[in-house]
Amino acid sequence: MSANIIDGKAFALALRERIAVQVSDFVSAAGRKPGLAVVLVGEDPASAVYVRSKGKATVAAGMASFEHRLPADVSQDDLLALVDTLNADPAVDGILVQLPLPGHLDELAVTTRIDPDKDVDGFHPVNAGRLATGLEGFVPCTPLGCVMLLKDQLGDLTGLDAVVIGRSNIVGKPMAQLLLKESCTVTIAHSRTRDLSSVVKRADIVVAAVGRPEMVKGEWIKPGATVIDVGINRTATGLVGDVDFGGAASVAGAITPVPGGVGPMTIAVLLRNTLVSAARRDGVAIDEAAL
Ligand code: NDP
Repeated sequence: MSANIIDGKAFALALRERIAVQVSDFVSAAGRKPGLAVVLVGEDPASAVYVRSKGKATVAAGMASFEHRLPADVSQDDLLALVDTLNADPAVDGILVQLPLPGHLDELAVTTRIDPDKDVDGFHPVNAGRLATGLEGFVPCTPLGCVMLLKDQLGDLTGLDAVVIGRSNIVGKPMAQLLLKESCTVTIAHSRTRDLSSVVKRADIVVAAVGRPEMVKGEWIKPGATVIDVGINRTATGLVGDVDFGGAASVAGAITPVPGGVGPMTIAVLLRNTLVSAARRDGVAIDEAAL
């Protein structure tokens, strides 16, 4: 068997096109563009690349991008003051502080200072709580992108056995919550899980969010399962995921490649969340189901 390769790049592009159409409708109705503010502290090259591509994608979707660059030695008070200013700015619908922050800054204090209704990254504990209790809020972009790919691939996910490997607040836990919301039977595995290969073997859906190159082997995968590889690992031979792609692709029904699978979805969902925020804040109706 040879798996269907899930083309996240093409899916993300189509999503961005649908978003751009609805952004244009929003601008006509509200008389302003949705706005995303991105805060970058310091000179970390990878973070600078992410911030630049988020800014470009925001403008390409017809939204306003506000980029704030602060020196690596900025004080906690000055960073919080900027977040307060953005919270109060009516032109800003989404606020994203690029992580990781330099060591002297308290990431949790910064994340929780963002107005939950502008927290388009979905990292605020209020949004984590909303997701867990089924209230409207913002869901972290990467796991939401994974669910979109899964639903596109499989349709209704009801009753499927899903195993999420990884329990971080930004990927594993929200991923598990989203799969539960889709009525999957969800198992969350982590570094203390016993006999991980047997746990993975019973899954119809495997989501790997570990950060260990090619840890999940082809023999672990149930024939026909759908495999979503969130991992981004830089190795001497290039970028690889958390799944042994070659081995898994010969057993799975469908699988995301790395790169070109989950990665492109993250920014597309960030744009989606920003548009949704603008629409909610201005009371403008948009077709959320089409996004
Ligand atoms: P974290 O390091 O925060 O979490 C990793 C998780 O993997 C932890 O829960 C850890 O368990 C678990 N784990 C570690 N080793 C093992 C093991 N041997 N067996 C089973 N579980 C293990 O990572 P993130 O969630 O932030 O990211 C995960 C991966 O996804 C990374 O490669 C990251 O680069 C990538 N990523 C990709 C994104 C994208 O846009 N495509 C966005 C975000 C992340 P424990 O809790 O017990 O320590």
